Amino acid sequence: MRKISLDKLNQLFSKIAETQTLYMPVDTKTGARYEKWEEGKELSDALNTVRSAKDFFFPQTENLMDFKMEGKNIEIIDTRNEAEDFVIFGVRACDVKSFEILDRVFLADPADSYYENRRNHGTIVSMACTRPVETCFCQTFDIDAASPEGDVVCHKTDDALYLEAKSDKGEALLNSLNDVTEDTDGSAVDEQVKTVHERMSRLPLASLSADAFGADKTKEFFDRPEWAELSQSCLGCGTCTFVCPTCQCYDIKDFNTGHGVKRFRCWDSCMYSNFTKMSAGQPRLTQVERFRQRFMHKLVYYPTNNDGLFSCVGCGRCLSKCPIQMNIVKVMKKLGGKSND
Ligand code: SF4
Ligand code: SF4
Repeated sequence: MRKISLDKLNQLFSKIAETQTLYMPVDTKTGARYEKWEEGKELSDALNTVRSAKDFFFPQTENLMDFKMEGKNIEIIDTRNEAEDFVIFGVRACDVKSFEILDRVFLADPADSYYENRRNHGTIVSMACTRPVETCFCQTFDIDAASPEGDVVCHKTDDALYLEAKSDKGEALLNSLNDVTEDTDGSAVDEQVKTVHERMSRLPLASLSADAFGADKTKEFFDRPEWAELSQSCLGCGTCTFVCPTCQCYDIKDFNTGHGVKRFRCWDSCMYSNFTKMSAGQPRLTQVERFRQRFMHKLVYYPTNNDGLFSCVGCGRCLSKCPIQMNIVKVMKKLGGKSND
């Protein structure tokens, strides 16, 4: 394990930025957001960013390809560029776990080469949480906020940052930082992890259980009458899907530029009334069906297709951002049986 005192963090960032583009959460008027590091920018202490780190691998909008048309000839222009190496610093445990959920979608055969390219070039430096808040429930999904996954795992104490490599990529990054870090044992970190575990056990959602949900439970939950009440006030605004680190729906659209066509991929939301609308019509005509789709996907369909893995990481973003205070916790409590009373 390596260590650097907090008053030298700037040296650490500057060293990383010598060879790779470095992104990190910084405080803005509208909350913490990932920005490219440059001299003068400081790492935010916020628990989590407004938008998740999924944007780095699955951006909200991307130009997939262009078509140039001359008479009857159509030329396809590949707009892909090899991504530059980059480091995402300070990713929380929940968001790190979301990458595994996205990987299972985008890297399944045939892999999405746009996503894969960025994934291969990105190094994830995670940051252990010290003060999880009342909207956090990552432990419901067996995620340890105090000991995240990642290529390099960081723990921040009152006076130092501790860094531990967990992959070959992480090892390479940490080795390149030897000049500005020093060797240390992990005793300060062990103490902190213990304290954070105690804090987590006292959180209001500490005992929230997902046991009632999971693979092959479609019949059990699909026709439950509670969906009507749960979805009654949903505005279909899609905020919950846009802030969610695991939501991965997108739409592809072509735009006529006058001398060709640009094809874009943009995030979409299963909460929208025109989502997956086809010439034959819209498969989910009512908001109750759309609402049910979102939660069934996270709690039943995704686990059915992915070895029981849930498609929620308990980041709590939908709890704090939904304009009508509806969220996955309320759904789990309503449908999830005795363990969540
Ligand atoms: S659940 Fe909330 S955030 Fe999500 S679409 Fe409905 S109103 Fe919007
Ligand atoms: S469903 Fe809500 S709590 Fe779960 S990962 Fe998405 S935003 Fe976070």
